[in-house]
Amino acid sequence: MRVAALALWLVVAIILLIPVVRGRSMTGPPRRRVSSDELVKDPVCQTYVVRSRAVSRQTAAGPRYFCSADCASRFSG
Ligand SMILES: [Zn+2]
Repeated sequence: MRVAALALWLVVAIILLIPVVRGRSMTGPPRRRVSSDELVKDPVCQTYVVRSRAVSRQTAAGPRYFCSADCASRFSG
């Protein structure tokens, strides 16, 4: 009986803790906004730009982000 009561309390404790854990993760900045407003470095002029506003180019090494189309063209050629 003791083990059953302990298990019951454990289940109750977990149920009570789930909203606390979820609440903590939600207090941080929303993930979508972080990913779109993330700062990326322009490899040509070494300037940091917001990714959502950066000019992106697909390269063999992955996507590269630039502050302007001018920097993007300089990087490729
Ligand atoms: Zn640039």
